[in-house]
Amino acid sequence: LAALLTSFLSLAAGQLRPPLPAAGGLPVELFNLQCIASRLRTDRDATAKVSTDFGQMVSAAPEAVFHPRSPADIAALVRFSAASSPAPFPVAPRGQGHSWRGQSLAPGGVVVDMRSMGRGAPRINVSAAGAAAPYVDAGGEQLWADVLRAALRHGLAPRVWTDYLRLTVGGTLSNAGIGGQAFRHGPQIANVDELDVVTGTGEMVTCSRDKNSDLFFGALGGLGQFGVITRARILLEPAPKRVRWVRLAYSDVVAFTKDQEFLISDRAREIGFDYVEGQVQLNRSFAEGPKSTPFFSEANLNRLAKLASRTGSAAIYYIEGAMYYSEDTAMPVDQKMEALLDQLSFEPGFVFTKDVTYVQFLDRVREEEKVLRSAGVWEVPHPWLNLFVPRSRILDFDTSVFKGLLKDANPAGIILMYPMNKDKWDNRMTAMTPTDDEDVFYAVSLLWSALSVDEVMRLEKENEAVLDLCDKAGIKCKQYLPHHKSQDGWQRHFGDKWGKIAELKAKYDPQAILSPGQKIFPLRG
Ligand code: FAD
Repeated sequence: LAALLTSFLSLAAGQLRPPLPAAGGLPVELFNLQCIASRLRTDRDATAKVSTDFGQMVSAAPEAVFHPRSPADIAALVRFSAASSPAPFPVAPRGQGHSWRGQSLAPGGVVVDMRSMGRGAPRINVSAAGAAAPYVDAGGEQLWADVLRAALRHGLAPRVWTDYLRLTVGGTLSNAGIGGQAFRHGPQIANVDELDVVTGTGEMVTCSRDKNSDLFFGALGGLGQFGVITRARILLEPAPKRVRWVRLAYSDVVAFTKDQEFLISDRAREIGFDYVEGQVQLNRSFAEGPKSTPFFSEANLNRLAKLASRTGSAAIYYIEGAMYYSEDTAMPVDQKMEALLDQLSFEPGFVFTKDVTYVQFLDRVREEEKVLRSAGVWEVPHPWLNLFVPRSRILDFDTSVFKGLLKDANPAGIILMYPMNKDKWDNRMTAMTPTDDEDVFYAVSLLWSALSVDEVMRLEKENEAVLDLCDKAGIKCKQYLPHHKSQDGWQRHFGDKWGKIAELKAKYDPQAILSPGQKIFPLRG
């Protein structure tokens, strides 16, 4: 006990220098330290589960998996690593592991299973009372689906959602968290007031726009590089009861983008959608893709296929819009919807409508997940590519990618395409948007599923070709949920912000211990 106490005290003082690496590369002392050792697992069952991610494009086992009960446990682990000799070991917080390029892996190090913290008493506290704007304090490990459930008990909900809710708060805030509400409220990171963060030196810091603001702005969209987010204060709004959910079909990309941009503009604020997204369906997928989807029946898909062949368009585009309402809404939703649709130029008669509860709407991808799981195509490789494309080049992108590069391809998956207002993003945060001086940019997501090894290779080549084409054509895209193979690539990604990023890294994670799977900074001894 005395030896243990001594080693713990010296660790706290930052003096511990474990003499020899052991246990597959991790220092032996790690396994002697009661507060950490009892929560570490090194067996293959545990490490195999965190050796890859949703994307299944990369695989690498950590030496151990850590199951913290509290932020203090994470701080102790990180401090131990920082003090290890001859070199620290990498530490990767893992939420749901729903990234796709190994971003949550920690080869040779320790994966922190963030979800362990939420077990037992969920760390979600809603503050609904008082004159101040309501908010929820949610642990970084919490699923957005659980945050929604807790907020709804008070008639409230966060304002911006990702399309899929089984992602963690820390995982999406480390990127940006985008979805159909972002045109109004900005990404999820723009709707956060305060964070608790465990830095790469093992310090536990509370930060906000006024307090330790460099860490606050750095951690939001920070790809896990400056600290582990253990709590976020997220703004709430009154939750609607129901949602009128529509898809409007277009064969002409100019009409499609014009209407999308109208719908996210101030002109459509009074009578407008609360959610605006869009999809592109390549022509060939009507013949070769699924015969029905959770949204479109077989009959509807047949009508759309006929529209595609009648108009000779290489793709059909859908605006996906949603209008929130409650029974007591001043203007009936039917009337409001009719007034809005009157101003749009979709193909006459091609309106597809659903009326669902708010929760059914927000949790809609869960239905798709169930269908894909039952068909055995959820747990397959996902070579996804997400880009932010400047508005001025979106039609060029459409011509060269959808009607050019991908014309004869028919990968399984979906393509999203929708605009966002740049002034809703805070450039002090780490997340990147296209640098062009334009007020609107498009999120374009190529969400492929690869059903064979050959397809993984083919899709990877296609993704490279898309990036190459943008490069050569001077379409200044930014990757969202970015992946770059070299530090050069990262420097180009961050552009003018690179200096600031390197400075923050040197201050908050000087040994580059955290989230090594992003491959931005090499571990330092
Ligand atoms: P992980 O994959 O576990 O981690 C991602 C990265 O963040 C890793 O580098 C990890 O080390 C780091 N990290 C994890 N937790 C923390 C923490 N608490 N503090 C600091 N760093 C941390 N994104 C959108 O914006 N909009 C969408 O609509 C959307 N839809 C999606 C739908 C599906 C089906 C999937 C699979 C992904 C989708 N995403 C979307 C992407 C998703 O937001 C990111 O991949 C996100 O990182 C996943 O969260 P996670 O909890 O699984 O994080």
